[in-house]
Amino acid sequence: MSTSPHASRLSQKATIITGAARGIGRDIARRFAEEGAYVLIADLDEAGAADAARQLRELGAKAESVRVDVGDKASVEAMIEASCRHFGRVDVLVNNAGIGSNKLTVDLGLDEWDRNLRVNLTGTFLCAQAAARVMVRQKSGRIVNIASISGQRGGVGRAAYGAAKAGVIQLTRVMAVELAHQGVAVNAVAPGPVDTEQSRGTHTPDTRRAYLDRIPIKRYGEAREIAAAVAFLASDDASFIVGHTLNVDGGFDAAGLIFDPKA
Ligand code: NAD
Repeated sequence: MSTSPHASRLSQKATIITGAARGIGRDIARRFAEEGAYVLIADLDEAGAADAARQLRELGAKAESVRVDVGDKASVEAMIEASCRHFGRVDVLVNNAGIGSNKLTVDLGLDEWDRNLRVNLTGTFLCAQAAARVMVRQKSGRIVNIASISGQRGGVGRAAYGAAKAGVIQLTRVMAVELAHQGVAVNAVAPGPVDTEQSRGTHTPDTRRAYLDRIPIKRYGEAREIAAAVAFLASDDASFIVGHTLNVDGGFDAAGLIFDPKA
């Protein structure tokens, strides 16, 4: 397959990527494969995961797939076992699986709140805990959690999603502190709005305009730009980075009042 300039940086690293059947996760999987990693595509969408793995194999990569529900402990344990069966170990876990939610707090039902927390926060916890147990035995490993700028900034309609992603950022810090001395690094990437099938389907023209007004670089991110940051944090290039959340957001978080410089 065509390779990145860092072709061997993740060579033979056994990597589990959740939610990699499509969207950002699929681009992360491709980037890891290009850098030489062995990739386990883990997703609720079994057929999509199998298709993503097949496509990587056709490009010459070592890739397998497994169905997982990240909110289910037994399913997560089976995913970890699948990595050990296929690749003999778990070197990297990318906690990417996630679902959106966009409801005013006063209208938010408990079901939607629970569903969001279950996938975005409990799912990240279950996968990170199960992977960390293997990594501690190995005395090495790297976990990269996909958070969101919504976990740091208040956004209308983002009560469940934002609270879950803020939890992911704090879970990242706590796990990082607990595991650093055992050779396991935990970090996170917080994307701003990214142009994916999902955001194209759910962001209205008004949402897009509001984001573009607030992003200094004046565009949405691309999935490959998130993948590049994840690959960096999973590699030895990030060997002294611990418990950090890297914003990949075109300056959204840095910006205060954005005004038209021509006005
Ligand atoms: P997406 O909806 O395109 O893909 C999410 C994938 O996760 C899907 O393949 C889906 O089947 C899988 N999934 C959902 N629930 C699952 C579960 N319970 N178990 C296993 N897999 C499950 O989403 P995306 O836009 O690619 O987002 C990926 C990650 O990036 C998410 O964590 C999301 O919150 C985060 N993020 C996205 C954006 C954006 O603008 N797209 C911005 C910030 C953060």
